Amino acid sequence: MTNYKIETKCIQSGYIPENGEARVLPIYQSTTFKYNSGQLMGDLFDFKADGHFYTRLSNPTVEAVEKKIADLEGGIGAMMTSSGQAASLIAITNICKAGDHIISSNSIYGGTFNLFSVTLKKLGIDFTFIDPDMSSDEIEKCFKKNTKAVFGEILANPALSVFDIEKFADIAHKHKVPLIVDNTFPTPYLCRPIEYGADIVIHSTSKYMDGHAVSLGGVIVDSGNFNWANGNFPDFTEPDESYHGLVYVEHFGKAAYIAKARAQLMRDLGSTPSPNNAFLLNLGLETLHLRMERHSENALKVAEFLEADDRINWVNYPSLKSNKYYDIAKKYLPKGCSGVISFGIKGGKEAAIKFMESLKIAALVVHVADARTSVLHPASTTHRQLSDEQLIASGVPADLIRMSVGIENSDDIISDIKQALNNI
Ligand SMILES: *Cc1c(COP(=O)(O)O)cnc(C)c1O
Repeated sequence: MTNYKIETKCIQSGYIPENGEARVLPIYQSTTFKYNSGQLMGDLFDFKADGHFYTRLSNPTVEAVEKKIADLEGGIGAMMTSSGQAASLIAITNICKAGDHIISSNSIYGGTFNLFSVTLKKLGIDFTFIDPDMSSDEIEKCFKKNTKAVFGEILANPALSVFDIEKFADIAHKHKVPLIVDNTFPTPYLCRPIEYGADIVIHSTSKYMDGHAVSLGGVIVDSGNFNWANGNFPDFTEPDESYHGLVYVEHFGKAAYIAKARAQLMRDLGSTPSPNNAFLLNLGLETLHLRMERHSENALKVAEFLEADDRINWVNYPSLKSNKYYDIAKKYLPKGCSGVISFGIKGGKEAAIKFMESLKIAALVVHVADARTSVLHPASTTHRQLSDEQLIASGVPADLIRMSVGIENSDDIISDIKQALNNI
C-alpha cells in the first residue's frame, strides 16, 4: 500500500480479503492454530515458514493491524503489545541490558519516566534525562561508552513540547545508536518521525489510534533503517542460544529488530494484545485521519478562546503563534497538534478544581485523546508520584489543567468552558 495517501491507508492497509472472504477484518479469537504435519510446525518455530501457531507470539487479526500501522508510519514492520507501557519496555530492552545507558528527553509521559527512572534502573539500565531543547553540543556531552539509544516524545504528554527529531537523529546516528520516539499524540496522521530520521517509533494505541477509549494497547514500529550490525549491538549479530543459535541480522536482515522483539521478548514477557482489542483498534484507525483533523481544528479554537480570556493565566498549545514551539511545530506537525492543550486558571488549585467540576460536556477522567472532551489536573493525579522539582523538570506546573478537546461541535465545547469559568 506504499503508494497510497495516508487517508487511504487508514482504511485499506493491513487486511486484504481474498475471493469470498470477510470484507471486514475477522476476529481470530483462538489461542492456537492447527497444522497437518509436525514438520510444518517445526518450520514455523524455526522461521523457515510463515504462519501462526500461538497467539502469544502472533495472531492473524493482530498481524493485520500491525501491518496497517507499519504502513501508516512508513516502517518495515511492527509489533503490537498489550499497552503503551509494554511497548516502551520492549522497545528499550530489545537493544540494551544491565550495564547499558540511555539518553532520554525529560519531557516525556509520567509513566514512561517511572518505567525508566525506577523499574529499568533497578534492572541495571542507566538513564540520563536531558532538557530536549539543549544544544547539540550539550547533548553530545551526555554520551558514554555504553550509551545504546536516545529517546524522546514527539509531542510530550502533558508538557506539549515538540521534539526536534532531526537534531536528535543526527546526534544519535553520529554515535551509532538508534533514535527511539514516542509518537502517541501526533499519530502518523500528523507526524511520521521516520521521515525525519527516527529509527524506532512507539505508540500507546490507547489514545488517538483507538480514539474511543475502549481498548488499551501499544505498538513498536521499526523503520528498517538502523544498522544493528555496526558493532554496538552484539545480541543482533551473535547466536541467540535461547533460539538454537539464531543470528537475527543474518536471518532477518533489515527486519531483525521486530523479529528479535517477538522471538525473545514477546515469548518471555507475554505482554500480548488480545485479538478483540486489535479488532477495536482497527476500527479506530479507519477514521484516524478524520478525527485527527477535527481534534486539531477544535483544539486550536479552544486554545484561541482561552488565550483571549483574562481569567486564564497562560495557554500552551504549539499551534498558537505565541507558543515557544510554534515554528518547530509548523515543521514537524504542519497539519495540527492534536486535541490536547493545557492552561493555567487564575485563582490556583481551588479555582482549577471548581472549574473542572462545573464542566458539563468535558468529563474529569485520567484518559486523554479520545473522541470525548475531557479534563485533568495532572499534579494531583497522573503525576502525583513526582516531586515538585520533577514536576517542574517535566513541564507540569501545579496549576496546569490538561484538556483533551474532543470532536464534538466546537461552539458547544467553548460554551461549556464559558459557563464553567463564570461559575468560579
Ligand atoms: C498513555 C501513554 C503511554 C502509556 O500507554 P498505556 O497504553 O497507558 O500503557 C505512553 N506514552 C504516552 C505519550 C502516553 O500518552
